[in-house]
Amino acid sequence: MRLSRVACAAACGILAVAIAAPTSARAVQTGPVTAIRAGRLVDPEAGTIANNQVILVQNGRFTAVGSNVAIPAGAQVIDLSGLTVLPGLVDAHNHLALTYKEEPERNIYYLTYVLDPTPLRAIQAASNGIQMLASGFTIVRDMGNNANYADVALRQAIEQGWLPGPTIIPSGLIIGGMGGQFSPTPEMAMDKKIVYPEYLEADTPDEIVKAVRQNALFGARVIKICVDCKPWGYTTDEIKLVIAEAAKANLKVEGHCQTVDGVRRAVEAGIWSIAHDRGMTDENHKAMARKGVWRAGTETPISLTGHTTQPRYANTVAMLKNAWENRVPLTYSTDADYYVPGKTRGEVAIEFIETWKAAGIPAVDILRAMTIGGYKVSQTETTRGPIKVGMFADLIAVPGNPLQSIDALRDVRFVLKNGMVFKKDGVMTPGAFFNGGPVNGWNVR
Ligand SMILES: [Zn+2]
Repeated sequence: MRLSRVACAAACGILAVAIAAPTSARAVQTGPVTAIRAGRLVDPEAGTIANNQVILVQNGRFTAVGSNVAIPAGAQVIDLSGLTVLPGLVDAHNHLALTYKEEPERNIYYLTYVLDPTPLRAIQAASNGIQMLASGFTIVRDMGNNANYADVALRQAIEQGWLPGPTIIPSGLIIGGMGGQFSPTPEMAMDKKIVYPEYLEADTPDEIVKAVRQNALFGARVIKICVDCKPWGYTTDEIKLVIAEAAKANLKVEGHCQTVDGVRRAVEAGIWSIAHDRGMTDENHKAMARKGVWRAGTETPISLTGHTTQPRYANTVAMLKNAWENRVPLTYSTDADYYVPGKTRGEVAIEFIETWKAAGIPAVDILRAMTIGGYKVSQTETTRGPIKVGMFADLIAVPGNPLQSIDALRDVRFVLKNGMVFKKDGVMTPGAFFNGGPVNGWNVR
């Protein structure tokens, strides 16, 4: 890494440092080639599967894909001829720096953030990220409730090359009206400012603008707002203000919505994505389909005991089916921010396929939500996700055929991230991901 230019604007006391982009410096070099022999290769977009494909990877990106691709002399060959290769999965709504649990907080996350400081939660996030990657999730949108920007720190750490993990799309703090999603006592709210940093309170237009700028400044890649967490919520015009301010930093906006009218206002304002399904109706779905609003329904399966109820689950299944029938843009999203004894965070996240199966959605469309829908809502579809030449080399492999049974995704045997092997033969082998310094650039945010 070298400093290409240092300019000092002494008059205003600002030191501006421009760093040579490390990627452009590397692009001219030619690194070793990895060749993957894929027994079967799934194209989720086309819904097809091709036999005996060769995938070449160099400098962390795909350089060739096909049945007639010659393997260059000296290439490292990875034999996945007995497996089905497919692009990495996306969880479009998780909170990696939050893990509430039965003991001691009885799954009440209001207590988790009192008990667990940001540094501990950041380390939990690093572990949860590794657990997600081991289950095949190569991208995670991390949608707030992550203490003091632990989600952004996780993204930085992974991008800089400190440790393995999914590509993180962090939201920073959730922006909401007074109280956020909490109901604190006056003394805790006013004297101790207990709502922050779980929520960034923004009640007036000025505060809304400032809150969006704060998140953008500190590294958010998407803006998350509480549309209707409190009766005062945000009006359509206030949501439009958030969207306009976020757009200046090239950020999209996700709205947490828990009421029918909240979804209606968010859609009317032109929001990018809506989290949760409590406010979903046939009418709202039709409007979302018309306007192309992404649905991150966070459909908790009944098999995760204690995290939904039978009536609630029945509604979740019915509304997911309704969304699919209305051709709403679908993402796979979990909100899986709790500890289920005996399961990793990745195993909890994959469990959500149960709800999608119960909704009668064909395996190919579940897989599309878990891949293409995820890349699009994450805005990575032109850089990361599809197994195509020029894209970052992320892929996974399973023994079964996920187009026949989506349950095949429960057994991820192989994971490639940025062209590096993270998991092989079902065992994590992440040695290549650990570095003693920020090998991809210290200023990656
Ligand atoms: Zn959430």
